[in-house]
Amino acid sequence: SFHKSKGQHILKNPLLVDSIVQKAGIKSTDVILEIGPGTGNLTKKLLEAGKEVIAVELDSRMVLELQRRFQGTPYSNRLKVIQGDVLKTELPRFDICVANIPYQISSPLTFKLLFHPTSFRCAVIMYQREFAMRLVAQPGDNLYCRLSVNTQLYARVSHLLKVGKNNFRPPPKVDSSVVRIEPRKPQPQVNKKEWDGFLRVCFIRKNKTLGAIFRQKSVVSMLEKNFKTLQAVLASLNGSTGEAAVMDVGDQSMGLEDDDNEMEDDDEDMEMEEGQGGGGEFKEKVMNVLKEGGFEEKRSSKLSQQEFLYLLSLFNKSGIHFS
Ligand code: SAM
Repeated sequence: SFHKSKGQHILKNPLLVDSIVQKAGIKSTDVILEIGPGTGNLTKKLLEAGKEVIAVELDSRMVLELQRRFQGTPYSNRLKVIQGDVLKTELPRFDICVANIPYQISSPLTFKLLFHPTSFRCAVIMYQREFAMRLVAQPGDNLYCRLSVNTQLYARVSHLLKVGKNNFRPPPKVDSSVVRIEPRKPQPQVNKKEWDGFLRVCFIRKNKTLGAIFRQKSVVSMLEKNFKTLQAVLASLNGSTGEAAVMDVGDQSMGLEDDDNEMEDDDEDMEMEEGQGGGGEFKEKVMNVLKEGGFEEKRSSKLSQQEFLYLLSLFNKSGIHFS
């Protein structure tokens, strides 16, 4: 019996498994990371193609079944199974990751791989179709969103294969797609928290103008708070004030950890729930940055990654920070 809560949908079509393995471009010298091997249909082909498979599986029954399947075969000494939650497991070094993952961990797992400390060639992963389309979306596409911009900063992403729900047992509710994620080398030199905080603001409403978003009271006051904190820290470093600069720095929800709302970012027609805010010098400062770069009338749904990076650099140059 399969556990729905663990996202257990077993690949039953051997031709599809072959096709995934073939498209992954595995070399015979590769150490392969597999996440959620389940009963081992994909694992077997990965063992045939590469040098070693390290498989991380949460469900102890699946771990047993997997070990039983390969026991006494020539594969057994090239398979290492780690039992546990992949999100809480320290990942080993690997060359390539190939996985049919439980869809509920799509977002945190993708960022865990992107921020993996040792470099790898690529990850070939099965996602829910809509999530996959968001990963690969380009500026102006309907599904272009914070997830697209964020992922594509760190990796080149491409759609490999459409997979219908009937290739699984039991079939999931939605169609799937296999995506290839290839980390950029070298990795971009951005402050991750800063970049993520910035994108969260820009994508509060992806089809509103940046002018309208950055005039919002909550945004202005968050930026002003960060600004003042930084000024206080700098002042105390210079010894020009005796006051301790202990304040909470920004909003914890600005971190990457809870990226889960991503799928709900579709509220283009919703009105902003809050007023446009009062006047204020700091608001002027923020608006001037937008004007300087010609961003006031632009919308996040159409901005390229280079434009986002440029706007963030303008903010930072003016001492305005998002984390
Ligand atoms: N790879 C197999 C296949 O293609 O037939 C099974 C894929 S199934 C979609 C997902 C697998 O991931 C299940 O075996 C499930 O037990 C496992 N799993 C679920 N959550 C996990 C987690 N947090 N860490 C590691 N494995 C997990």
